[in-house]
Amino acid sequence: MAVRTRAPFVAGNWKMHLKLAEAAELARKIVEAGSGLQASTVVLIPPFTALATVGGAVAGSEVRLGAQDLYWEDQGAFTGEVSGPMLEDTGCSYVLVGHSERRQLFGETDETVARKARAALKAGLSPIVCVGEVLAERDGGRTLERIDDQLARGLGGFSREDMGRVVIAYEPVWAIGTGRTASPGQAEEVHAHIRRRLGESYGNEAASCAIILYGGSVKPANSYPLFQEKDIDGFLVGGASLDADGFVGIVREALRAYREEK
Ligand code: PEP
Repeated sequence: MAVRTRAPFVAGNWKMHLKLAEAAELARKIVEAGSGLQASTVVLIPPFTALATVGGAVAGSEVRLGAQDLYWEDQGAFTGEVSGPMLEDTGCSYVLVGHSERRQLFGETDETVARKARAALKAGLSPIVCVGEVLAERDGGRTLERIDDQLARGLGGFSREDMGRVVIAYEPVWAIGTGRTASPGQAEEVHAHIRRRLGESYGNEAASCAIILYGGSVKPANSYPLFQEKDIDGFLVGGASLDADGFVGIVREALRAYREEK
């Protein structure tokens, strides 16, 4: 079996949860529980209000900071929006783009995803671009077609170099916050497809280095078999990331599967 070179990558999307003191405490617990978990990338993604606080709590550790969204202009009369340079200035290295809640509740489209991903790269941030089908698309056998559309429109025009900084998160919408997880086989089918498409567009080397995360009701109990699939490089975690032990448990399980391959 080919040994994978991509180390586990686990990001926790805290969504619209936690006031400052709670956010600081959770970040501190994760740093403490996760210390010594080398060979993995761990990213905390709190709401905008807690970015600076969480940034302070993880300073000096291996844990990285990310934001949940950005606007594509650098500055201006865009009330309520936050730009890439502002996030970079706050200590972010990553930003989610096109999360299914943004697409479903706030009208985000593949076109806005492309603009935001480009703005993130311009600001020196790595976009974590989310793609995934809704249940009707899966049941109708249109999953891969939907993913192809999202990749073509959301990442269109990116160079090979850009792609080296983009993380992709496959999140079947029917699995987000529902307790229903894609089986390892279902997830791997889509991950392998995404990697194949990246190979066709950006070359085999870019495809084999690309980080492709799975998201959708990931917990410590289901993360090990998912990570055993060769194209699943880690997880975007929602609900379970609000519990330090659960979140670090997912990182540990991914690392266990990774090390067993070596
Ligand atoms: C998410 O918000 O990206 C997510 C995957 O949520 P959950 O883990 O709660 O399904």
